Amino acid sequence: MFATLSDRLADTFKNLRGKGRLSEADIDATAREIRIALLEADVALPVVKEFVGAVKERARSEEVSGALNPAQQIIKIVHEELVTILGGETRRLRYAKSGPTVIMLAGLQGAGKTTLAAKLARWLKDQDRTPMLVAADLQRPNAVQQLQVNGERVGVPVFAPEPGNGAGDPVEVARASIEEAKRKLHDVVIIDTAGRLGVDETLMQQAADIRDAVQPDEVLFVVDAMIGQDAVTTAQAFLDGVGYDGVVLTKLDGDARGGAALSIRSITGKPVMFASSGEKMTDFDLFHPDRMASRILDMGDMLTLIEQAEKAFDSAESLKAAEKLATKGGFTLEDFLQQMMQIRKLGSMTKIMGMLPGMGQFRDQLENFDEREIDRIQAIIQSMTPAERDNPKIIDGSRRARIAAGAGRQVSDVNQLVDRFFEARKMMEQMARGGGVPGMPGMPG
Ligand code: GDP
Repeated sequence: MFATLSDRLADTFKNLRGKGRLSEADIDATAREIRIALLEADVALPVVKEFVGAVKERARSEEVSGALNPAQQIIKIVHEELVTILGGETRRLRYAKSGPTVIMLAGLQGAGKTTLAAKLARWLKDQDRTPMLVAADLQRPNAVQQLQVNGERVGVPVFAPEPGNGAGDPVEVARASIEEAKRKLHDVVIIDTAGRLGVDETLMQQAADIRDAVQPDEVLFVVDAMIGQDAVTTAQAFLDGVGYDGVVLTKLDGDARGGAALSIRSITGKPVMFASSGEKMTDFDLFHPDRMASRILDMGDMLTLIEQAEKAFDSAESLKAAEKLATKGGFTLEDFLQQMMQIRKLGSMTKIMGMLPGMGQFRDQLENFDEREIDRIQAIIQSMTPAERDNPKIIDGSRRARIAAGAGRQVSDVNQLVDRFFEARKMMEQMARGGGVPGMPGMPG
């Protein structure tokens, strides 16, 4: 979504390359370009002014670090200032100390509230919570049904008004939902409220009434990031009319200029807590100002990658292998197989790799990686005796033939595997001596 802004900033930084020192004129020119880039991205004027002012001042006064050239220095300052205007720290949900945590959603119609409600519910389930969705948007035809469909998709129950029983009164529905949540032991209640096409008094009053009736732990203002400057106006109107604790930006996958993301925090003083970035229920996460800043500066979303890589690649397994190396007997075929399994898990990361600049070659390697190869390796290793797995050196010619037959492979496959294992072991030993944690030895293919 920040493609244009990213490109413009990259151009700005390019002009600084090769400069040994930044003159006053260089700093002025850079500040001017950053200003234009931000304005073009639809960032609100007061925010732009403050941002550029801060960058300029720091560029002038900051001691030039020996480790960074002037261009890098400016990038660092811009990155830090971006993190600041995006809110600094990631603001996490506050849960109620007792009873269900009540989260109320407010925002314009079409902002993506109903979709977001289900995404949030799914996310909470992942955090071992037991959420319940509440359909208190009784304005828009089909809103209740839409929430029910979404609730079903993520496997979260939906509390909806029953005909005759308070139907038509969203305040009553919201109030009753809290009782229901207590009865059914749901620990989080997510209340979807009605939005209108534009800001209007009745809408605000209804949201305020629901707020007063249920005393939410968090009121989240949901706003479509693609609506540009209007997002800021609407955010201000909801702040005055209903009040809220945090903001959720939706449709961050759009290619709009996205200045809303950069303006809202500064204008309203309220943190962006979540970001929604697509039609899929999984296109949703906590909003991390530092990661967003890195993304805008096109430094690749390193942190997200690392976090996801850690999930896929079990570092405990790697450490176990490293420990074994340190003890006598060292790395065995069994460990080798474990490493192969890890690589298989990494295969599902090809998409994430795309986030990193310069990862193209690695991505190709992973994409061409044949999963069946691991099954074949596994079959061969399992045809060996435990002693052979511990020390493949003892596998002689006749045993190789027997192992191949047992695994339904050729002797040459067994030879290849054993060779590859010795290569990998050599590599692991080198790494261990070098102090590094072993990674992925002998990638097949
Ligand atoms: P509500 O009126 O605020 O409840 O908004 P809805 O949840 O009905 O969303 C309005 C439209 O935006 C629907 O077509 C959604 O599929 C779409 N939408 C919601 N969130 C996102 C998002 O993050 N990205 C994209 N591309 N579309 C979204």
